[in-house]
Amino acid sequence: MNLAESKEAFIRLVQIPSVTGSAGEETACAFLEGILREYGIPSERIAKEPGRPNLLACLRAPHPELEPVVLISHIDVVDGDPKKWSHPVFGGEIAQGRIFGRGTLDTKQLTMMELYGFLKLKEREQDLKRDVWFLATIDEEGGSAYGMEYVKTVRPELFRNAVVINEGGGFPLHINGKNYMMLTVGEKAVCRARVWAEGTGGHASAPGDDQAIQKLAEGLRRIFAAEEKLNWGSRHTRETMEAIVGSADWDNEAAADIFGYAGQNSIAMRNYRIGERSNVIPARAEAVLEFRILPGATQKDVAEFLDQALAGTQAQYEITGFEPGFESHFDNSHLKELVHDLNQACAHYGFEGEVLPMLALGRTDGRFFGSEGSFVYGCSPLLMGDSFDTVLPKVHGNDESILEESYLFGCRVLEEILRKNCLQEEER
Ligand SMILES: [Zn+2]
Repeated sequence: MNLAESKEAFIRLVQIPSVTGSAGEETACAFLEGILREYGIPSERIAKEPGRPNLLACLRAPHPELEPVVLISHIDVVDGDPKKWSHPVFGGEIAQGRIFGRGTLDTKQLTMMELYGFLKLKEREQDLKRDVWFLATIDEEGGSAYGMEYVKTVRPELFRNAVVINEGGGFPLHINGKNYMMLTVGEKAVCRARVWAEGTGGHASAPGDDQAIQKLAEGLRRIFAAEEKLNWGSRHTRETMEAIVGSADWDNEAAADIFGYAGQNSIAMRNYRIGERSNVIPARAEAVLEFRILPGATQKDVAEFLDQALAGTQAQYEITGFEPGFESHFDNSHLKELVHDLNQACAHYGFEGEVLPMLALGRTDGRFFGSEGSFVYGCSPLLMGDSFDTVLPKVHGNDESILEESYLFGCRVLEEILRKNCLQEEER
């Protein structure tokens, strides 16, 4: 596959309306399967339910010396409102040098960049020094129960001890007069807790002073007032960011937010329930809180925080879910090599700037690997014309689009990185 063919195939993939849970997921899977077959690569469908397949393919090293590389991406997309788009949502139309369509940034561009690099490795399969997997999944936008989560139950060995290329990074940013290529090196943990209180219910005409809602409100007030005590977790990524940029004062707003995000734990109220009828005082009131906490922090940290904050109140809590975070230390050799290679490849193909690590802004399918000790990096490299601040509103938004040049750049950069990391006797 050459670059022109890759771009054409990318547009065709964008034209498949693979909205999560729709028949398009299978069409997209079959499309990729067809390309792999054409290049002599067998692939395997992994499906929890008929009609909702994930696609897995592997290039086997004759004598693997290193842990495998796993190229992941999702081929399902969220829908779009055609009335708010200036081009058809699944048109793949090109205008002003940009390819328009849902999935051009999240994450069909990554699927096709990875596939391009994967097919290039196929040409030198006998020189591989590690196995390389290509894994395109569905249902990422729906929570991944039919996607990555299910693949993990079927093929758990794939998730341990791997180097993973994932979504979430690769977007450039201009900070304090210089360009940076963002590379995600970790994700925060997410912890959900239900906080509730009980009181005397009754008719609204006689509220009394034993009201559940007042007790809950006091509990929530205490929790949010103690937010600054949330000081657990690793700030390593933030420190590295500061050292590379040479300042903690960043002049790009989006970048400053990303920098702040890497240094703080936060609490958000996601939901609440306080009775349904207007003339009745509820006997129970509850709120659902979501903690986003830095890698390294644990469920126990959250429980101790809530124990303290709610001590002496009449509110109670229960932790309903905990997904651990993860982080690659910037001093580990994998990351050092990757950053070195990414810096070189970016420079080689026309991006002048430096790689800057960050924590992913939300949870991705990478969490299924990161929690098993794999090294997960978010990297679909784009050019400055698709800088992070301009890309963010388009992801799940209107007029999602990518510069043709960015797409080709990403293919070239990933191809070079994979070649250097996966083939014998490649110069570093
Ligand atoms: Zn998305």
